[in-house]
Amino acid sequence: MSAASQVKRQKAEWEAVVFEKGEYISYAGCGMPYHIEGIVPHLEDLIEITPEAAVTERKIDLRLNCTVIRVDPDKKEILVKDSAGTRAEKFDFLLIATGASPITDHITFEKSKRIFTLKSLSDTTKILQFIEEEKPKKCAVIGGGYIAVEMLEAFQGRGLETHLIHRRYDLARTFEKEISTLIKNKMEQEGIILHLNSQVTALEEKKKKIIVRTNHEDMEYDFVLIATGVKPETELLKDTPIQLGVKNAVKVNRYLQTNYDYIYAAGDCAETVNLITGKPAYVPLAPKANKEGFIAGINICGGKEEFPGVLETSITKFFDLGIARTGLTLDTAEEHYPGAAKFTFSSRSKARYYPGGGTLHSVIILDKASGKILGAQLAGPLDGVKRIDVFAAAIHNKMSVNDIFKLDLSYSPPFSPVFDPVILAARLGRKYL
Ligand SMILES: Cc1cc2nc3c(=O)[nH]c(=O)nc-3n(C[C@H](O)[C@H](O)[C@H](O)COP(=O)(O)OP(=O)(O)OC[C@H]3O[C@@H](n4cnc5c(N)ncnc54)[C@H](O)[C@@H]3O)c2cc1C
Repeated sequence: MSAASQVKRQKAEWEAVVFEKGEYISYAGCGMPYHIEGIVPHLEDLIEITPEAAVTERKIDLRLNCTVIRVDPDKKEILVKDSAGTRAEKFDFLLIATGASPITDHITFEKSKRIFTLKSLSDTTKILQFIEEEKPKKCAVIGGGYIAVEMLEAFQGRGLETHLIHRRYDLARTFEKEISTLIKNKMEQEGIILHLNSQVTALEEKKKKIIVRTNHEDMEYDFVLIATGVKPETELLKDTPIQLGVKNAVKVNRYLQTNYDYIYAAGDCAETVNLITGKPAYVPLAPKANKEGFIAGINICGGKEEFPGVLETSITKFFDLGIARTGLTLDTAEEHYPGAAKFTFSSRSKARYYPGGGTLHSVIILDKASGKILGAQLAGPLDGVKRIDVFAAAIHNKMSVNDIFKLDLSYSPPFSPVFDPVILAARLGRKYL
């Protein structure tokens, strides 16, 4: 929708057709956990553009409940399926923006109204309806990434006995061990029951319960959410000459073109580049998707704008614990930089004497040879961890700890200590050079 809107802004006379297999467009998927928790009361609050507004205000030819099942790049044709049947549609330019889908194929189970994944607004409605009608008491979330973290809060916040089942001892590899430990401690404080090192092999419905079979034991829940990661939704490109890359995401150049210069790809279905290593990466996050849609729209209209890549910056929260990361983890940094090192420290998020602050935990990944920061992870008060963006800007601009130390960042007691945690990270990092 970002790309289609951009095209209509630049070339009002062009026909921009959007094929969507569901019934919603332009919704804030990122807000779904907060709607399930009850913090965001109405589902409609998550919708940015209604289908009516897309058609009447943006003049987009919107085809809802219409699935694209095949792309023929050489014929410049797609095959679409809706209630009227299957037919071919011609295009001059094509943008593939099919997003991602939850990974579930490592667990054996049959479809059940008690087994959920969370991807779309319809999934959100199904979960809420189930909770409303069945009044469940006990549930499990399988996974260890940020969606699992957010959904544990949502279910616990709704008063359910909530369990986490995760195959590793630590949470997802994107979190450094220290940050993972802080999150797990916070989970226990909030009453989540943790089953770690537990590999789920199968789910079975029995007498209105789901039996979760793991490598250790069988457990029983009223319902289960599988949140074990996502994969690019590129099934429709299988057996086509359109090139796929990391995890089968669509390979694109800096202008978001595939190996056909009139076919573009953007968002969760598209590969990108890690800005630090320069290597291809798969990073399904919303800021990348939105920027890529915007840029693909410009380029389809004849522009030449580049999307350079990402640092995998992300932020979330578990109750009042903010969690944020950017750049490389130590494990990845060590693959590329012989001088990679990690250090940790804790500091106040506001001046020590000013009410309302808390402890901000920082983990910094540094290249001792160049003095450049390669990664940062923060956990602490919600308003404190947004500092991750300063680290992201510094890493993006390849700044060394000496450069960062000299940055003229703001200070006042209600906002930070006089040595802001970012400046403190640089000051401590200088000792490693
Ligand atoms: C629960 C949850 C929380 C999240 N929270 C965050 C967050 O806090 N921060 C963050 O950065 N990211 C977050 N994300 C990720 C973010 O939502 C995605 O990165 C973003 O939505 C990707 O946008 P997209 O347009 O590429 O894909 P999507 O938003 O998935 O859109 C793709 C669309 O294509 C349609 N489609 C797929 N295949 C076909 C086909 N063959 N024919 C027709 N239509 C098709 C789909 O129905 C879908 O509507 C979250 C995701 C989830 C699920």
